Amino acid sequence: MTSPESVLKDTFGFDAFRPGQSEVISALVGGESVLAVMPTGAGKSLCYQVPALLFERPTIVISPLVALMDNQVAGLRMNGVKVSALHSGQSREDNIVEWQNVAQGDTKLLYMSPERLMTGRMLSAMKSLDPAMFVVDEAHCVSKWGPAFRPEYADLQRLKELFPNARMAAFTATADELTQKDIADKLFSGNGRTIVQGFDRPNLSLAVSPLRSRRDQLLEFMKTMEGQSGIVYCLSRKNTEKFAQVLRTAGYKALAYHAGLPSETRFENQERFMAEDGVIMVATIAFGMGIDKPDIRFVYHMNIPGSLEAFYQEIGRAGRDGNPAVTALIYGLDDIRMRRQFISDDGSDSDHQLREHKRLDALLGYCEASGCRRALLLNYFGEDAAPCGNCDNCISPPEMIDATLPAKALFAAMSETGQRFGTTHVIAVARGEDTDRVVQFSHDKLAAFGAGKEFGKPYLQALIRQAVGAGIISMDISRYGALALEQGALDILAGQAKFECKDLVVVGRTEKTGRNARKAIAETALNADEKDLLSRLKSLRMTFAREIGKPAFVVFSDATLMDMVAKVPSNKAEMLEVSGVGETKYDRYGTAFLDAIDEV
Ligand code: ADP
Ligand code: MG
Ligand code: ZN
Repeated sequence: MTSPESVLKDTFGFDAFRPGQSEVISALVGGESVLAVMPTGAGKSLCYQVPALLFERPTIVISPLVALMDNQVAGLRMNGVKVSALHSGQSREDNIVEWQNVAQGDTKLLYMSPERLMTGRMLSAMKSLDPAMFVVDEAHCVSKWGPAFRPEYADLQRLKELFPNARMAAFTATADELTQKDIADKLFSGNGRTIVQGFDRPNLSLAVSPLRSRRDQLLEFMKTMEGQSGIVYCLSRKNTEKFAQVLRTAGYKALAYHAGLPSETRFENQERFMAEDGVIMVATIAFGMGIDKPDIRFVYHMNIPGSLEAFYQEIGRAGRDGNPAVTALIYGLDDIRMRRQFISDDGSDSDHQLREHKRLDALLGYCEASGCRRALLLNYFGEDAAPCGNCDNCISPPEMIDATLPAKALFAAMSETGQRFGTTHVIAVARGEDTDRVVQFSHDKLAAFGAGKEFGKPYLQALIRQAVGAGIISMDISRYGALALEQGALDILAGQAKFECKDLVVVGRTEKTGRNARKAIAETALNADEKDLLSRLKSLRMTFAREIGKPAFVVFSDATLMDMVAKVPSNKAEMLEVSGVGETKYDRYGTAFLDAIDEV
C-alpha cells in the first residue's frame, strides 16, 4: 500500500510534511475523526488531500466559496488528481458531467457547498457513494461561538448520524477552546481528536509605525517591495480608491476593492490580483476571506485593525508559501479614538462593549510594545515564545528614556482642565500655546500652562500614545476622546512613580523596518543572473497559466520557481527534486522549464 510520504512526494512533489500535518494525516488514515486548528498557510488542504488519495472510496469536501473550490480543483487536477466539483459557478450541464464522474467511481475528492450537500436528494445519492470521509473546511462557521457562524453549516451536524462509517475532518484557523469543543461536538460528538497547531508564522516580519503621513509612509514602504504582490488595507472605501490612485500614479499596478464597487469590478480586480504578478490590492477588509493566493509578499495596514484576532487573520494572508513576507501597520491616535467610537456606537450591551474595549487595549499594547512583537502576539493567543529576531523591536530595540518630566506636564494639564479635553488641547496647554480654545477657557491662567514648553508637539503626541498604550491614561469616548488620568498617571503626577518611554528618535526609527525587512529578504536574495532566470521562469509560468485560464500559482508556486533557481535542475531526476514538482506536473511542464533553465 502506498504511504502518505510517497503521495506527498509523487503527487505533490514535496519532500517533507510541515509541522502538524503528519499527525492529522495519520489520525485520519487510522479512521479517527479530527478537528485541526492550524494557522493560515500551515497547509491544511494537504492534511485531507493526502488521506483522500489513500482511500478507496471518495472524500466529500465542504467548502463555502466557489472561488476557493475552483482553485483547489485546478491545483489538484494539475497534479493529476481525479477531482470533481459541484457549484453554482458552472453550468447545469457541467455539474451533470461532474456528477457522472463521481457516480462512476472516477473521483477521489468531490467539492461542494454545504447547502447543496444537505438536500434530501443529494444525501440519498451520497448513501450509495458511501464516502470514506467528509471534510469541513472553514469549520468555525459551524459554531455559534465562532466569529463567522453560517446557518447552512449548522445543518452539517446531521452528517455524523447519516454516515456513521465516514470519518469527519474539520479545519479552521480560528477557534478558541469553547468554539473547538462546540465544533467537535456538532461534527463528531466529541468522538475524535482535536489537534491544535501553534499560531506562530515565523516567516512574517512584524512592524508598527506611528502615523506621520499615510501617503508618504505608504510610498516609502512600497519602495522596499518593488514588483511584489500584496494587500494594503484601508479603513474607508474612499481611501482604498484614493491610495490605489496614489500608487498607480507612482507607477505601481494597484487596484481598489471594497463592498461598494459593482460586483463585476470586484470580481475582475480579484481575478487580476490572483492571476497577474506584482498586483497590489488596496482594499477594505471586505477583501480577504477565500483569497488562497500563496505568494502574497506583504500586508500593509494603513489604519489599526479591529482587534489582534482580526489583525492576525489579515496579516496571515501573506506568505502562505512559507517564504519571507512583510507586514507593517500604521497607527495614530485618531484611529484609536475612532475605534473606541465604533464600539460605543454599535448599540450592544455594556458587557460586550467592555470586552471590545479590552480587545482594543490589547491591540494598543501591541502597537506600543517595546519588546518582541511576536512574543506579545503569541502570548495573547496563549502561547509562550522567545524573542523572534524578525520584528522591528527585535531588529532595532527601542531605547527607553525617562520621560517623567514631560509626562507630568501633560498629566497636570489634563488634571487642571478637568479631564475634559482631547490630545490637541492638552498639548496646547502643556506647551503654553495661545490657541483660540486656550483663550476661550482661560487656560492660560493655569499653573500647568506652558509647563512642558520645551518639548515638541510630535514628542508629546508620542508620549500620550505610549501612555494610552500602557493604560495609565485613557480616552473617554462618551466625551469625544477626552483624556482621563488612571491610577498609574496619578502616581506619576504625585511624584510616586517614574514614566519610562521609547525615545522619540527611536520611535522614528521603527519606520526603518521596511528597509530592515527588505534586508532580511535581500540576504536570501538573488544575484543578477538568478533574478534574470527567475523572471524568465515567471513569464513561462504566465504563458501556461493563460493557456488554462488559471492563476499562475496553479502552475507552479513562487516557492517552486525559487527552488528551481536554487537547484538549477538539468534533467528529469533533478527536476523531480524541486519542491512542488510531482510526477504529473513534470509530465506537463517539466521539459519546458528544463529548456528555459538550460538557455542560460
Ligand atoms: P491553509 O489552508 O492552511 O491556509 P494551504 O492548504 O492553502 O494552507 O497551503 C498553503 C501553501 O502551502 C500551499 O501553496 C501549499 O501547496 C503549500 N504546502 C502545504 N504543505 C506543504 C508541504 N508539506 N511542503 C511544502 N509546501 C506545502
Ligand atoms: Mg485553506
Ligand atoms: Zn521579535
